[in-house]
Amino acid sequence: MSVANTGHYDVIIAGGGITGLTLACALRNTGLRIGVIDQREPEAFTQDYALRVSAINRASLKVFNAAGAFVHMQQLRVSPFLEMQVWDSTGTGQIHFDSAELGLDALGYIIENNVIQLALQELVQQTETIDWLCPAEIESLDISEELKRVRLADGSALTAKLIVGADGANSIVRHAMGIELVRKSYQQQAIVCTVATEYEHQQTAWQCFLPTGPLAFLPLADGSCSIVWSLDESQVEQMMALDDDAFSQRLGESFEYRLGSVKTVSPRAVFPLGHGHVDCYVQQGLALIGDAAHNIHPLAGQGANLGIMDAACLAQIITDALQAHRQWNAVHTLRKYERRRKGDNRLMEATMTGFKYLFGNANPLLTEIRNIGLNAADHAGPVKQMLINQALGEH
Ligand SMILES: Cc1cc2nc3c(=O)[nH]c(=O)nc-3n(C[C@H](O)[C@H](O)[C@H](O)COP(=O)(O)OP(=O)(O)OC[C@H]3O[C@@H](n4cnc5c(N)ncnc54)[C@H](O)[C@@H]3O)c2cc1C
Repeated sequence: MSVANTGHYDVIIAGGGITGLTLACALRNTGLRIGVIDQREPEAFTQDYALRVSAINRASLKVFNAAGAFVHMQQLRVSPFLEMQVWDSTGTGQIHFDSAELGLDALGYIIENNVIQLALQELVQQTETIDWLCPAEIESLDISEELKRVRLADGSALTAKLIVGADGANSIVRHAMGIELVRKSYQQQAIVCTVATEYEHQQTAWQCFLPTGPLAFLPLADGSCSIVWSLDESQVEQMMALDDDAFSQRLGESFEYRLGSVKTVSPRAVFPLGHGHVDCYVQQGLALIGDAAHNIHPLAGQGANLGIMDAACLAQIITDALQAHRQWNAVHTLRKYERRRKGDNRLMEATMTGFKYLFGNANPLLTEIRNIGLNAADHAGPVKQMLINQALGEH
């Protein structure tokens, strides 16, 4: 009888986004029977760059490499960035990171979200012990001490020893666990699109802190850039109403023409911005990873990276318990995952909220602190090293 017909799994992963698929791949040699459920297939790969991209740091890259997935991403399309240039538009503060000075081939990679998903999905589909259950919408969960059951919209039901909620910010698993994530809105949204600029991006990830919010130009392998522009909701409305020429003009101006004028822009999309964090990641036979457990501001491009680390950590805890013949789905085992990840995730959320406040404030004193702080950090070895480690995910 095939795994799908039994309706029973060792692990059900609710959500086949970046974090859910990473977990499936990290567990694929454990022999556990795994079902990954998602309501929709990843967006198809096309010649045009997808609008959603992630700056993937070196720690996440290690996880992808260990799973054998990065090579599949490279076969599709990845864009290395060798340098990072960050500055404050209202002052003189700036900081620069260079992979050459660190003896690294790259600081990280800009990868389209669908490329990450497609590569991980390919591995999942090559693995006999994993079922890719898609499209399938989870409608509800029955949770008790003895039973963990997922009910799908088509009326079928699946049971598991462990259900992992990797189903994003509005997680139905989190809801069924009775765990609240108080999501605080920044009253801001991010405009994303792909642009061609007058000058080459020099394989550098550029980020400018404007009083209205951060603006990032992320370098893509074909010479174009993916931009993430965070603005107040009313400003987003105005920007989205502009035609392409007027939008390009405003974008180039806001970016201080660091890459010259903006020549062309793709269609634009808007994403709401907020942050929040659950107090508890696990219960008996249940765990939350990625955006289901925490949301942060994308200004440092860390949300997906944190989710990938959650997935890698949970997989390691489960693998260790299996090898030691301990109860791998028991709450005391899963608690180890929570203990290892919560501190890092909380620190990143607090840092991003602090940055958002510090840089989104026109107070002259704060401007001065930013100038001094960024320039000092650029010249102070240990502080710069700490920031580099944070950006690379290696701390
Ligand atoms: C503008 C912007 C830029 C960003 N840039 C970066 C960056 O550069 N670097 C970075 O690290 N992070 C970045 N992030 C954050 C990153 O995109 C997210 O943290 C990451 O995608 C979360 O992945 P996830 O798999 O946890 O959740 P999701 O991507 O939300 O995936 C959840 C999955 O669950 C499925 N699902 C949900 N409910 C159900 C259901 N009931 N039934 C079946 N399936 C269901 C969904 O279809 C989805 O596929 C950015 C975010 C934004 C908004």
